[in-house]
Amino acid sequence: MRRNRNVKIVATLGPSSETYDMVRALHVAGADVFRLNMSHGSHDEIREKHRIIREVERDLERPIAILADLQGPKLRVGVFANGAEELEIDAHFRFDLDEAPGDATRVCLPHPEIFAALKPGATLLVNDGKIRVKVDKCGADFADCKVIAGGTISNRKGVNVPDVVLPLAALSEKDRADLEFVCRLGVDWLALSFVQRPEDVIEARELADGRAAILSKIEKPAAVEHFAEILEVSDGIMVARGDLGVELPVQAVPPIQKRLVRLCRAAAKPVIVATQMLESMIESPMPTRAEVSDVATAIYEGTDAIMLSAESAAGKYPVDAVKTMDKVATEVEADPNYRQIIRASRGERQGGVADAIVAAAREIAETTDIKAICCFTQTGTTALMTARERPGVPILAMTNLRSTARQLALSWGCYCVMTAELSRFKQAVVNAVRAARAGGFAGPEDQIVVTAGVPFNMSGTTNILRVAPCDERLIYSTDPG
Ligand code: ATP
Ligand code: MG
Ligand code: MG
Repeated sequence: MRRNRNVKIVATLGPSSETYDMVRALHVAGADVFRLNMSHGSHDEIREKHRIIREVERDLERPIAILADLQGPKLRVGVFANGAEELEIDAHFRFDLDEAPGDATRVCLPHPEIFAALKPGATLLVNDGKIRVKVDKCGADFADCKVIAGGTISNRKGVNVPDVVLPLAALSEKDRADLEFVCRLGVDWLALSFVQRPEDVIEARELADGRAAILSKIEKPAAVEHFAEILEVSDGIMVARGDLGVELPVQAVPPIQKRLVRLCRAAAKPVIVATQMLESMIESPMPTRAEVSDVATAIYEGTDAIMLSAESAAGKYPVDAVKTMDKVATEVEADPNYRQIIRASRGERQGGVADAIVAAAREIAETTDIKAICCFTQTGTTALMTARERPGVPILAMTNLRSTARQLALSWGCYCVMTAELSRFKQAVVNAVRAARAGGFAGPEDQIVVTAGVPFNMSGTTNILRVAPCDERLIYSTDPG
């Protein structure tokens, strides 16, 4: 299945999207990556969603990335007897340590450390800051609050306490157990919530031990401050605007988004722009103009992926939300301005043979009538470097490793194709041509660019580039040797 866009779409799965038919419909509509939020749902539920995604992947024969999002040290309320309650402005509401289900007057906030640190006058923010309450009175096991900005509060919604510094460990006991569980299950990406320091990422990387790539969610001021070091030790980044816009003034988020997207591209690491992209589509089949504009802006900035959270997990129109993103992306990428912006924001050459070859591949593809760049890659690095170039033609990432094909599903423009293990470059060219034609990227009259690292059975960097005709007979007759 070929997409008409380069930017990727991540869809969070939840109650609105957990059947085989729904996951399949979301994938067909455009979801390239599925996110499993470990904050919601038991291990059995996660296992079932994972099984369904892999079944869809097998049936549709396209690599799909699964991203498991670890809760991290996020503060959350408990559950409500009715699932949700409406908090009116000026109402009084209590947070306490009582595990009994909540009601319109109280709910459990199972974090004694918050109560220990709270002072009257402090603000608590619930559900990405949508609900705001002020502490009137508090003690070791309760906080009586007055509602300043009301709204619906429901099961396990997140709580932020921006006025108070809390001692937070990077990975809770639950995170460690979840990490081991999903690594055994087999996920492609692990997202770490509330990363504050590079050490947090290194710790998770050691636990994952190569079983999944590591994506750091940037949602704390400290992570923004130490971004360069965090990026260095991460395989990918998520601009998690929900908590970021609560921990920092909302107006600080757009410039940070722009800066992070650029730095990730320069580092050839995928970046996701996330949270509230089409928020109104939780309830409505139509997005707002402002949401469409937000999605478009992220794409113009050159992000690798855009994400749906509650829109696809708990909303009424998950498939429409994916289709909306797909349509916006197709439109933006067809705009001549988009190519111009993407070209203008290309970074400095890094030096090195592989870097020069991917740049040459893009140059040839853009200045002659080339239909695709096919790059042979094991770890995915060459595909990531090619994606950093943001070429004007499709990138076919050819790999013999399923894990690489799946991980690259998150990266800008990468259409992944599984190949057998190869020993000769000529064989690789034939495979690339077949893949380009089978995928509908090129016809017999066309030409493609093929890059690879030879010899094949030695790990090393890309060192060869060939412009190949897509007629197999011509490949043999024009083979240089
Ligand atoms: P995070 O801070 O990790 O983004 P979140 O609570 O905002 O956490 P999202 O995955 O961003 O979660 O949004 C999905 C929303 O859908 C949640 O707020 C939650 O109310 C709802 N939901 C309910 N059940 C699930 C589930 N099993 N998986 C994911 N989301 C769920
Ligand atoms: Mg979050
Ligand atoms: Mg969220």
